[in-house]
Amino acid sequence: MQVTPLESFPPFEQWDDWVEYDAKAWPRKVEKRYTLVPTTCFNCEAACGLVAYVDKETSEVRKLEGNPYHPGSRGKNCAKGPATLNQVQDPQRILYPLKRVGPRGSGQFERTTWDHVLDVFAAKIRESLVAGRKTEVMYHVGRPGHDGYMDRVLQSWGVDGHNSHTNVCSAAARLGYALWSGADRPSPDHENSKFMLLLSSHLETGHYFNPHAQRIIEGKMRGAKIAVIDVRLSNTASMADWWVATWPGTEAMLLLAFAHVILREKLYDREFLETWVNWREYLAAQSPTSPRTFDGFLAAVTERYSTYTPERASKECGIEESVIVDIAREIGKAKSAFASHVWRNAASGNEGGWQVARCLQFLCVLVGAVGAEGGTLLNTQSKFVPPPFLKPPPQNAWNELLYPREWPLSHHELSYLLPHLLMEGKQKISTYFTRVYNPVWTNPDGMLWEQVLRDESMIGLHAALTPTWSETAQYADYVLPMGHGTERHDLMSSETHGAKWLGFRQPVARVVAERAGRKIEYTYETNPGEVWEEDEFWIALSWRIDPDGSLGIRKYYESPYRPGQKITVDEYYGWIFENSVPGLPAEAKKLGMTPLEYMRRHGAFLVEKDVYDSHMRALSEKELAGTTTDASTSTVISAGKPAGIVADGKPRAGFATLSKRLEIHSQTMVDWGWPEYALPEYIESHVHRRHMDRSKGEMCLVPTFRLPTLIHTRSGNAKWLYELSNTNPVWIHPEDADRMGLVTGDLMRISTRIGHFVNKAWVTEGLRPGIVACSHHLGRWRLFDDVGADKWASALVRKDDLGDGRFRFRRLADIAPFDSADKDSKRIWWTDGGVHQNLTFPVQPDPVSGMHCWHQAVTVEPARADDQYADVEVDTRKSMAIYREWKAKARPAPGPGGLRRPLHFARAVKPSADAYRLT
Ligand code: SF4
Repeated sequence: MQVTPLESFPPFEQWDDWVEYDAKAWPRKVEKRYTLVPTTCFNCEAACGLVAYVDKETSEVRKLEGNPYHPGSRGKNCAKGPATLNQVQDPQRILYPLKRVGPRGSGQFERTTWDHVLDVFAAKIRESLVAGRKTEVMYHVGRPGHDGYMDRVLQSWGVDGHNSHTNVCSAAARLGYALWSGADRPSPDHENSKFMLLLSSHLETGHYFNPHAQRIIEGKMRGAKIAVIDVRLSNTASMADWWVATWPGTEAMLLLAFAHVILREKLYDREFLETWVNWREYLAAQSPTSPRTFDGFLAAVTERYSTYTPERASKECGIEESVIVDIAREIGKAKSAFASHVWRNAASGNEGGWQVARCLQFLCVLVGAVGAEGGTLLNTQSKFVPPPFLKPPPQNAWNELLYPREWPLSHHELSYLLPHLLMEGKQKISTYFTRVYNPVWTNPDGMLWEQVLRDESMIGLHAALTPTWSETAQYADYVLPMGHGTERHDLMSSETHGAKWLGFRQPVARVVAERAGRKIEYTYETNPGEVWEEDEFWIALSWRIDPDGSLGIRKYYESPYRPGQKITVDEYYGWIFENSVPGLPAEAKKLGMTPLEYMRRHGAFLVEKDVYDSHMRALSEKELAGTTTDASTSTVISAGKPAGIVADGKPRAGFATLSKRLEIHSQTMVDWGWPEYALPEYIESHVHRRHMDRSKGEMCLVPTFRLPTLIHTRSGNAKWLYELSNTNPVWIHPEDADRMGLVTGDLMRISTRIGHFVNKAWVTEGLRPGIVACSHHLGRWRLFDDVGADKWASALVRKDDLGDGRFRFRRLADIAPFDSADKDSKRIWWTDGGVHQNLTFPVQPDPVSGMHCWHQAVTVEPARADDQYADVEVDTRKSMAIYREWKAKARPAPGPGGLRRPLHFARAVKPSADAYRLT
């Protein structure tokens, strides 16, 4: 068991009976006795460990702190972890399954039973499956909170129905990384690095990843330097050695200038490049007249990137030449201990943002930092997903609502285009589950979401699986209360550092009841009200869809220990812990426990440490059977294709690409219609300043950052978090504010192509002139007093139909104290709650990655006479036209072989190869 160097925490031996003074009884010294139960935070995907302090007298969770035995978070959490307690105790939470009784969106619901819910949904899904309609059942998830469970459920039904939020989040970065190595996510080893280059400060201090934030600071304390590229002074930038505020959208140019200096000054790792880069393909395709030698490649690639000079980048990006050269040399000096990261930031803001990730990874490749200690690992090295028992086969179906043919290289589902695709009339949805997903509020073009969610001809039956009300749940037919982080089971692993670990989320009250000897069949028996957990819901629903097993579904939900009987969650996870987690059974045995008991006691397990250089894994005898080696290229060949690389005299696994090498030249891009992007390149963004006339108030709006204490749309039920963060004024530089006569607090109107919003100015030097920035995740609204969003966070608004597809939201009342079972609800002192901006954004799908390009070209002006704070106006007539404008830039499938998508690309819930053929 690994333990953190924290100052103090309850020793593990005392977790069953921990005694400490009751803080509320102060100054009296009153002892409180607790049982401590580990679980996993659900408030972002970092999956930090939590420990619930359960009062032994009342069985109530009194507080949540970090789990010191968790390998990723090591006992430390951000503010959102302990605030899980607010979510559990929220007096407005939904406690019973609800059924709509008025028209969709009328806010009228009545209590129903789980039995009724299971009957209705099982019948509807069964009808689709029996008729062979495998694309009309859809599960649309915002925060998955688990690894793989739903993939198994959907594949057991045989449907192609997994939708996600990836394309409003990380699609661009994923494509940029995947083109190099086949792995679509980086996993920087910050703590062991010598130099960190971050285009992800939003991620590390604003969004989530306390595990990264703590390791960045540890790296810095050990002497590493940090450069942050961000148009805005983020928390991470404030701790960095260099804050590099480029013009938005020029980041790839800056990164290629670093590459230019590294190549020019020969700061690269020659041996790594020669062994691991597909330089022979590069020469054949990009420089056929060069000598076919590695030196020929070095000369050719140096020449190819010679135009990206610091001087050119300085002009384009607005950064001093000397800074560019200094940072490039630091990267070269760090060599393989160069950790870098981009996730949202420039990748998700700009058209062509996927090239930002590709250019950043280019630097890692040049200095040999890919997969190395202190370098930038691949997610495949440091994330651990154990397989369950009896995995269903891939579905033989392709859903064009998820992966439309126009974006064959998207990473992944074109989730935010669902309304536009439905309105084009290609398909409809018979059964739609939204799960911790609030597209009306989170996605661009929210009013189009509202329209399709109201329309039963497009979406037949809609269940919102959610612990709390949201702007989307109010349009559902059924609202089904699901558990918070202390009320459910899940397995999670995350890319936190150079190790692999597994975290177990568990329902705390159930564990306490079982420790006390109570027999619990379903988690809702110990959860508040009739709050259920998804695992058990999907087992019950699948069983009811196929009660006699004739559809071939039921067998996936039968116990591996009791043939023919319905599986329990203990059996589901127990089997995984016994059979799929290397080292866990032995470790548990040492302590006299079963693997399940071990995980219930500890909450996490370190599967492997020091997971560096996975591409150097020696191929096994079995893998080598029937292979040959091409000595001229040092490539292991199996059935005519590369199967490994000879390095250090041994056959090695290499990378998950077709060539098994890191691919600077991507033949996939050529074959799929983008030959101009066969290499890492700079693509001019849709918000390039060339397109803006500042004298007319035209500026770039950066809407992709947020405050460290909020969670997309899921913190409205956390009073402590809203007490900390409750406004999102628009950041504007003094130069621009002076030009417009604005001072902090003045109202501004920000106009996009489909509408405008009105917000207050915050005049600051914390961003470049010519840019405005506004944090998302604030500006929650509700149309009804008791339905729509939590009162800690939302303002009551009126929606006015202005005719011809135009709508205006106008605030009726600020956030105010309210009556509830929680005395704190009478003590609310904040009134604002911020302004919603995403409703005014048209969709802007990147033609290659499918990523919604978040940055907006806007016009900024002082508010007009009839504007009121928090006004939001949208013209939905323009939405579809702008969607079509962007769609026209895409280059549709089929690709080679008549395929919808390259077979070697990752795909969420991957179908069978047959389904890839576009017939
Ligand atoms: S970083 Fe994420 S998982 Fe960790 S405590 Fe914060 S919200 Fe929870």
